[in-house]
Amino acid sequence: MVFRPFRPSEIFRIQFREFLRYPCRVFEILIIEDEPAIADTLVYALETERFRVRHALTGRDGMAMLAENPPDCVILDIGLPDGSGFDFCREIRFASSVPILFLTARDSEIDRVLGLEIGGDDYVTKPFSPREVVARVRAILRRAGNHDDAPESAAPAGAGAALHHDAAAMRISCNGTPLDLTAHEYKLLLVLLCSPGRVFTRDQLLEQAWEDPGAVTDRTVDAHIKSIRAKLRAIDPVAADFIRTRRGLGYLLSASLKSGEGGDA
Ligand code: CA
Repeated sequence: MVFRPFRPSEIFRIQFREFLRYPCRVFEILIIEDEPAIADTLVYALETERFRVRHALTGRDGMAMLAENPPDCVILDIGLPDGSGFDFCREIRFASSVPILFLTARDSEIDRVLGLEIGGDDYVTKPFSPREVVARVRAILRRAGNHDDAPESAAPAGAGAALHHDAAAMRISCNGTPLDLTAHEYKLLLVLLCSPGRVFTRDQLLEQAWEDPGAVTDRTVDAHIKSIRAKLRAIDPVAADFIRTRRGLGYLLSASLKSGEGGDA
């Protein structure tokens, strides 16, 4: 699952589709947040929107509530008294693919990359508007619904198996050889690597891999992809085809490419 913030226009479209898709269903949300004032605001906002809400003040209590009765979505604070929300996210991911929305006081790039890597679905930065959180929860639920429709692959295949990400070293290897990537190339490839088979538009890639996406153009993405492909090709001629082009749409990392199979780009 990818950790990509939604744009306001996107949230509105998703909210509407969500309403059409689930006009009657009541979704259950588990909030794990140690600040009662923030939690109360969220409980009120979500219940007003017909969600069923449970709330835990600590990570441990949250884990117990999650195990007892799995919710449809978890809202997870990063700064909890008994541990980091990232650690609890990892714990949840061992057993569950429940959508997770992070609440964070830190909007730094490392948090975004880390959240993406450990399996968060989206995040909001404090202070936030309760309406925004509700909209993001709806968007996540809708996206999770899409995931249910798609066949889950148990093990990484093709490019996913040949490329390996070392989060601590912030390095990606191809067939065991570390790639010498620039910071933007690394972030771009990481976005693709975290969701093999998913097509990302150039705008989406710019948003995720550049701190100031407005300062660069779509062509910047193309140039970086070209450079990443060249670096992959230098290690393994087949690996350059891991990144596929969808003409008029964007790029994806092939989820099914086998060694010796050609690419389309
Ligand atoms: Ca906190």
